[in-house]
This record gives sequence, C-alpha cells and structure tokens, in this order.
Amino acid sequence: MKIVLSGIEIETIKGDIAAQQDIAAVVNAANAQLRIGGGVAGALHRAAGPGLEEECRPLAPIKPGQAVITGAHNLPNKYVIHCLGPVFGVDKPEEKLLADCYRNALRIAEDSKIDSVAFPSISTGAFGYPMEDAARIAFQTIKDILPELNNARLIRFVLFDSESLEVHEQCLKEVFDA
Ligand code: ADP
Repeated sequence: MKIVLSGIEIETIKGDIAAQQDIAAVVNAANAQLRIGGGVAGALHRAAGPGLEEECRPLAPIKPGQAVITGAHNLPNKYVIHCLGPVFGVDKPEEKLLADCYRNALRIAEDSKIDSVAFPSISTGAFGYPMEDAARIAFQTIKDILPELNNARLIRFVLFDSESLEVHEQCLKEVFDA
C-alpha cells in the first residue's frame, strides 16, 4: 500500500529489511551495544559484514529513543540508521520513547540529505511491543514530522510477514485517513 503526502511517499511492503536495494538508508532495530544480535539487527549485520560492528563500536551504548547513523558496508544501501526501541513494560514512557526513535531517525535522515528511508517495525520483536500500538505510534510520529522534511521522498515500512503487513496497512489508513 502506498500513500503520497506533500510529495512524500509512505509505503508498506512485505519483505526483508536487509534486501532494500532502492533505498538510501535502512533503519536498524538495534540493541544498546549496537552489536549483531537477532531479528532485524542480525539480518542487517550479517548482510553488512563485520565492518558495520566495527564502525558501531565507538558509538555505543545508545539509549532508548536514540538514533545514530553509520555507513552500510556490504548492504545495498548508503547508510544504516540505528535506533534503540523501548523494551515493552520496562523502558518508560514507552510511547514517547518509540516515537523518539522514528522522529530521531527521520531528523538524522533530513540532516544527511537522505531521500529514502526504510523502517522495520521497531520494538515489536524481542522487545515485545504490541504491533498495532507500535504501528499507530510510528505513523502518527511520521505524520507530525512530515512538514519538517525537505529531503525525504520515500518512507517505506518493511514487514516480515503478511499479518504484520495487514496491521500496518490498517493503521496507515487510520492515521492518514486514506
Ligand atoms: P526489537 O528488538 O526492536 O523488538 P526485532 O529485530 O526483534 O527488534 O524485531 C522487530 C520486528 O522486525 C519484528 O516485528 C520482527 O518480526 C521483524 N523482523 C525480524 N527480522 C526482520 C527482517 N529481516 N526484515 C524485516 N523485519 C524483520
């Protein structure tokens, strides 16, 4: 599904965040130490190669809601933006911290003149955030920050399975009244 608002495409697709050939910056659902880990971080670090962890080392640890940018090494992108999502029920207030991830990632992208960004569904795997709530927060945050974005042309959400895609499509429609 795709909507266009003020010249910016917001798209939801089913796929692998580590295989987004046409995207300038992919977002990592990172851990605080910016190490390889599982889920999204595992997929991105495996595809990027050990150079990514090496570049990350001096930038760690990061705090929930924070985002940092690195090169993409062997990934088919130019940059990786690493976000640490809140652990559901532990890092509070979790709604604000999750919104901070999306806001900070998009501000970094704006500052780096990045035109296309792909997000996974941050915090909804190992960190246990209910997906519908997380998706609503993600899209609402993007809606709020859109007027600040001059460089973005495409914001893509890459969901791992059909159910996650469906949840995101529903929330996208709801938040943007599409
Ligand atoms: P977190 O620790 O922030 O919860 P995870 O990486 O465990 O991050 O999971 C975040 C979401 O990304 C989950 O919904 C998970 O199903 C999904 N996911 C896992 N691997 C991939 C991948 N390769 N591409 C896209 N999404 C993925």
